[in-house]
Amino acid sequence: MILVFRPGCSKDEVAEAEQQLRGLGFQPHTLYGVERTVIAAIGDDRVTTKEHLETFPGVERVLPILAPYKLASKEIRPETSVFEIGGAGPGCPTVKPTKSKVPIGGKKLAVIAGPCSVEGREQILEVAAAVKDAGACALRAGAFKPRTSPYQFQGLMEEGLEYLAEARERTGLPIVTEVLTPTDVHLVAKYADCLQIGTRNMQNYLLLKACGEVKTPVLLKRGMSAKLEEYLLAAEYILTSGNPNVFLCERGIRTFEEHVRNTYALTTVPALKAKTHLPVLADPSHGTGVRAYVAPMTKASVACGADGLLLEVHPDPSKALTDGQQTISVKEFAQLMKELKPLAEAVGRTI
Ligand code: PEP
Ligand code: MN
Repeated sequence: MILVFRPGCSKDEVAEAEQQLRGLGFQPHTLYGVERTVIAAIGDDRVTTKEHLETFPGVERVLPILAPYKLASKEIRPETSVFEIGGAGPGCPTVKPTKSKVPIGGKKLAVIAGPCSVEGREQILEVAAAVKDAGACALRAGAFKPRTSPYQFQGLMEEGLEYLAEARERTGLPIVTEVLTPTDVHLVAKYADCLQIGTRNMQNYLLLKACGEVKTPVLLKRGMSAKLEEYLLAAEYILTSGNPNVFLCERGIRTFEEHVRNTYALTTVPALKAKTHLPVLADPSHGTGVRAYVAPMTKASVACGADGLLLEVHPDPSKALTDGQQTISVKEFAQLMKELKPLAEAVGRTI
C-alpha cells in the first residue's frame, strides 16, 4: 500500500503512521519527495483496509502498489531517485571518503569509466588520471573478475582493491568495483564507493540480500537473459534488505546474433524509466562487445534517456588482460566525451 500524505503534514504524523503500520505487521519505507511524503507499506494487505489506513492523521489517500516490485516501482516515487556515490555516508563502511560526492540520477550524466580489470598499480593510476581529465565522474575496474574459463585471469582481488583505493586518493574519483560473493561484500565495501553486481549474478539472491545489508550504493547490471520484471525484482531484493541506493544498467542480452558479443537492448532504457524511479545507466562496451560500435552506441544511449554510462577504457586496449576487444583508448574516450557534450544538451542533460 502507498500512503500519500497531505502537503505540509507534520513529522509526528508520519512517525505515528510508521508506528501503526509496524503494529499491523507492515515494513514502512518512508520517501520524502519534492512535493509529497509517502510511505510504501510492504506487507500483507489483507490485515487491514484502505479505508482504515485513510483514517491515519495526515494521510490524504491510500493506493495499492500494483507492480510486483514495490520499492522499485515508479508508483511510489514519480521522479528519478538521486543519490550520491563517494563520501562515506552513514553506515557506509568505506575507509577513506572521497573528496567529491557524485550524484547518480540527476541532470548531469554519470559517466563511470575505467578498464575492465585492475591489472596493476601503474595501469590503474594512469587510467584513473586520464579518465578524470576527460571528465569521468567515477572510476570503475574489476578486482574480482567473473570469467567464463577458470584458466583466464581472475583479477588481482584484494591487491587490486588497494590499487583502486590509491587511485581514489590521488584523483578524488569514487570507486566502482564488482563483488562476486556474499562473503566478500564487507571486504569490497571497505574499499569501494559503489558495489557492482554483474550480469551473471543478477539472480544470486544471497548476494543481492548481502548488498542490501550494507549502505554502499549498488550498481546492478541486467542479467544477460533476464526479463525486465525479473530485473526489477532483483533490485527489489536489495531495496527490501535496507539499501535504497540502487541503480540499474543495461549491458546487452544474449541472442542468436553473432556479429556482436551481445545485443544492446537500448529499448530497456525508456522501458525501465517508465516503470522505476531507480536511475538507469547504459553500458555500450559490454552491450556491443565491439570497439568500433562503442562510440555510436554511447551516443544512442544518451539520446534515449540513460542517466549515465559505463565505459571500458584502457591506456592500451590491445594489451588489456580482459575485454580488450570492446575497450576504447584514453584518447578515444576523451574525444567521445567532447562529442557527447552537444548531444547531452540536446536531450536536456549536462555532462
Ligand atoms: C564488467 O563490468 O567488466 C563485467 C564483467 O560486466 P558484465 O557483468 O556486464 O558482463
Ligand atoms: Mn568487462
